[in-house]
Amino acid sequence: MPQRRIWLAFLFVMAVGVAVSARIIYLGDSVQAVNHSFISEKLPLSQRIGELRGVIADEERSLYELYSFTTSKEVFQTQRKLDKQRLYALVDKLEADRSSNMYVPDLRKRLWEFDQLSDSLYSTLAVADVDWDKSRMLLASVKPKVRQIEAALGAITMANRMAVNDLGSETQQSVSTMVRWVICFSVLIFGIAGFVGYYVVAIVREGLERRRLSMFPERDPNPVLRLGVSGEVAYANPATFDLLDKLNLTRTDLNKFLPAHLHQYLAKTNSSINPNIQFEYTHGEHILECTVSYLADFSEYHVYLKDVTARKQAEEALAYKAFFDPATGLPNQYSLREDIFSAHRTKQLLTLLMIVPDREQEVLENFGTVNTERWLVKISSRLNDGINAEKEKLYRFGNSAFVLLRWYDSLTDAQDRARQLLSTQRPLHIERREYFSTLSIGIALMEYGNDMEMNAEALVQHAASACNRTRRSGGNDFAIYDEQMALLASRTLTMASDLHNAVENGELRLLYQPKIEPVSGRLLGMEALVRWIHPERGMISPIEFIPVAEDTGLIVPIGNWVLREACRQNAEWQRAGLPPLRVAVNLSARQLRAGNLLAEIDGVLAETGLPVSSLELEITESMVMDDPEGVIKLLSAIHERGIHLALDDFGTGHSSLAYLKRFPIDCVKIDRAFIKDTPANADDVAIARMIVAMAQTLNLHTVAEGVENIEQLELLKSIGCDQIQGFYYSRPLAVDDFLEFYLQNLSAKSIALETEHYA
Ligand code: C2E
Ligand code: MG
Ligand code: MG
Repeated sequence: MPQRRIWLAFLFVMAVGVAVSARIIYLGDSVQAVNHSFISEKLPLSQRIGELRGVIADEERSLYELYSFTTSKEVFQTQRKLDKQRLYALVDKLEADRSSNMYVPDLRKRLWEFDQLSDSLYSTLAVADVDWDKSRMLLASVKPKVRQIEAALGAITMANRMAVNDLGSETQQSVSTMVRWVICFSVLIFGIAGFVGYYVVAIVREGLERRRLSMFPERDPNPVLRLGVSGEVAYANPATFDLLDKLNLTRTDLNKFLPAHLHQYLAKTNSSINPNIQFEYTHGEHILECTVSYLADFSEYHVYLKDVTARKQAEEALAYKAFFDPATGLPNQYSLREDIFSAHRTKQLLTLLMIVPDREQEVLENFGTVNTERWLVKISSRLNDGINAEKEKLYRFGNSAFVLLRWYDSLTDAQDRARQLLSTQRPLHIERREYFSTLSIGIALMEYGNDMEMNAEALVQHAASACNRTRRSGGNDFAIYDEQMALLASRTLTMASDLHNAVENGELRLLYQPKIEPVSGRLLGMEALVRWIHPERGMISPIEFIPVAEDTGLIVPIGNWVLREACRQNAEWQRAGLPPLRVAVNLSARQLRAGNLLAEIDGVLAETGLPVSSLELEITESMVMDDPEGVIKLLSAIHERGIHLALDDFGTGHSSLAYLKRFPIDCVKIDRAFIKDTPANADDVAIARMIVAMAQTLNLHTVAEGVENIEQLELLKSIGCDQIQGFYYSRPLAVDDFLEFYLQNLSAKSIALETEHYA
C-alpha cells in the first residue's frame, strides 16, 4: 500500500514537473521572442530614426550651403541624390516595423513636401536671375518642414518606445510567471518529499516489522510450512526438521510426513469461504494436528503442524477418568447416567440394583483407606465375575456403592439376581484377616416419563432409598423401592436435620425401666432409654431416630449425653441416700468405634461421682462381631474398671458362642422375641431355657426383656432367670415416676423384710 502511494506521488510529481517545464519553456520562448524583436527590430529602428535625422540634417545643411553658394549645384545634386536614396531606404525599413508603420505615410508626406521645397529652392537658385526674395522665402520654409519631419519622426520614436515598453512589461510578466511556477513547483516538490519521506519511513518500519515477524516461524517450536499453489514445499521452519528427526525421517522425506490427502484439504481451503481448515492425522504412533490456510493475496498455503500425541493421550486418560473408576476399572456414575439416558430413549425395561457392601465404615475405621479400597476392589471383581454382559452392567457409584443396571428386566428377575448376589458372598481377607462381607441391595424399576433427567435421577434415588432401608434393618438383604419408602426417606431426611440441634436444645429425655429380681421382687437396677421430645411431632421413639442418628454420626454426641445424664441422675439418687442401683446404658457400634469411649466414660464417672459398680453398659452381638479382637480389648478395659457389661438382644444377631465365651461380659439379655410367645411356644421356651443354662455355665447373669405377663414371669422364674425387665413390672418411666416406683419398691421390700423378720 505505501509503495503504491509512493508510486502515485512519483507519477504526480513527474506529471506536474512536465507541465511546469513545458510552461517554463513556453514562457522562456516568449521572453526570447521579445528579446529578439527588441534586438532585431526596436534597437535598429531607433538607429534608423537617428540616421534619418542625420540625413535630414545633411539635406537641410546642403540647402543652406546651396543658398550661400558654398557648394556647387552639381555637388548638391549628387549629394542630394545619395541622401534621397538613403532616406527612402530608411523609410522603407521603418515601414517594415509593425509598431510604427502607421506613422510612416505621414513621414513620407512630410519628406515629399521637404523634397518639393528642395526642388523649388534648387530651381529658384539654378537660374541665372535668382529671385532672391523667393529663395529667402523658400529657405525660411526649410526649418518648419524639417520640424514637421522631426514631429513625424518623434511619433515614430514614441510608438517605438511604447512598443519597447510593452515588450519589457511582457517579458517581466513572463519572467514573474516563470518564477511563480518555479516556486509552486518547489513547494510541491517539498510537500511531495515530505509525503514520500513519511512513506519511506513507514516502508522501512514495515520492513523491520516483517523481518521481526519472519522470526516467528523460525523460532516456532511447532512445524510451519509454506506451500506453493501446486502444494510444493517452499519453506519449512527449523521445528519441521526437528520433528522429522524425532520421527526418524530425513529432510527429503518431508512429503511422507505431510498428510496423505493434503491436496484435497488445500483444494478445500482454496474454494471454501473459510480459508482455514484444521484436521488431525496420524503418522506412526504420533497424532498430528494440521491447520491449513490459504493466503489469497500471495496465492500460497501455510501449513501449521502440532504433535498433539501427548495431549490426546492426556485427553483420553481424562475421558477415561471421567467415565471410569480407576481403582476397579468399572464405569462410574457418569457412565451410568449416560447409559440410563440411552435406555430412556428406547424405553427399555430397566432395573437398577444399588449395591452397598455392609460395614464399610468399620472396615475404614479398622483398616484404613488403602485397605478399604482394596476390599472394595475385591468386592467389585467378585460382583463383576458373574455379569451377563448382554443384559447387565456393573458400575462403581460414588465411593462405596455399586450399581447393577439390567436391561429388559422385570422386578422378579431383579430380585432373583439380588438373592443370587447375596448368596454368593464369601469372607474376604483384609491384612490376612478373614472378614465376612455382606451386601445391602436396593432395587428400583425405571418409570418412563417425559423428563429424562428426572426419570434417571428418580431411578437411582429409589434404588438408593431401598438400599438404605436394607442397611437400616441390618443389611445382608435386598429391598424393592415403593412409595412408602420414599415417604420414610424424606421423613428420615427431615429428622436428620432436626436431630442436629436436639442435644443443644435439650429435646432429649431419659426414661428408666426397672429391672426386678423375680424371686424377691426387689428393684436391682434400671435401663436408661432415650426419648426425643420433638417440638412439633412430640415424643419420638428411639426405634425411629436411633438408626438416623447412627447413619449421620449423631449417635456419638447423643450417646455421650445419655451416659452423662444417666450417671448424673443415678449419682444424685445415691447422694440423696437411696440404696444404690445399677443403671444400664445402651451403647451404639459407632460409640465403640469413636475411639474415645474409654476417656468419655472415665470423664463422666469422675464428673458425676457415680461408683463404677453402679454403671452397666449394654452392647449388642453385632457390635462385637464386627471386629471381635478390637472390641474385646476395649470391653476388657471397661470391665477392668469394674463397670458391668450386658449383651443386649441376645439370640437375634450372628450369635457365636465361641466369642461369647471370650467376652468380658457379666450379663446376657434374652431378647423380647424369645419371650413374647412363651410359654405357649415350646421352641421359644426351649431357647430361653437354653440361654439361661448356658449363661449359668459361663457364670453370667440373665435378664429377660419384654416380660408382659405373670405366665412369662413364672416361666422365667422357674428356669432360673435372674432379672426381669418388662411391662409386667413397669413400662419405662419418667424420672419422677421412676423415683416413686423406687420408693414404693423400697417400702414394699422393707415391709416384706419386716414381715419375714417377725415371721
Ligand atoms: P433395648 O435396649 O432392647 O430396650 C428395650 C426396649 O424394649 C425398650 O424400647 C423398651 O421400652 C421395650 N420394652 C421393655 N419391656 C417391654 C415389654 O414388656 N413389652 C414391649 N413390647 N416392649 C418392652 P425402647 O425404649 O423403644 O427402645 C428401643 C431400643 O432403642 C432399645 O432396645 C435400644 O436398642 C435403643 N435405645 C433406647 N435408648 C437408647 C440409647 O440411649 N442409646 C442407644 N444406643 N440405643 C438406645
Ligand atoms: Mg437395651
Ligand atoms: Mg434389648
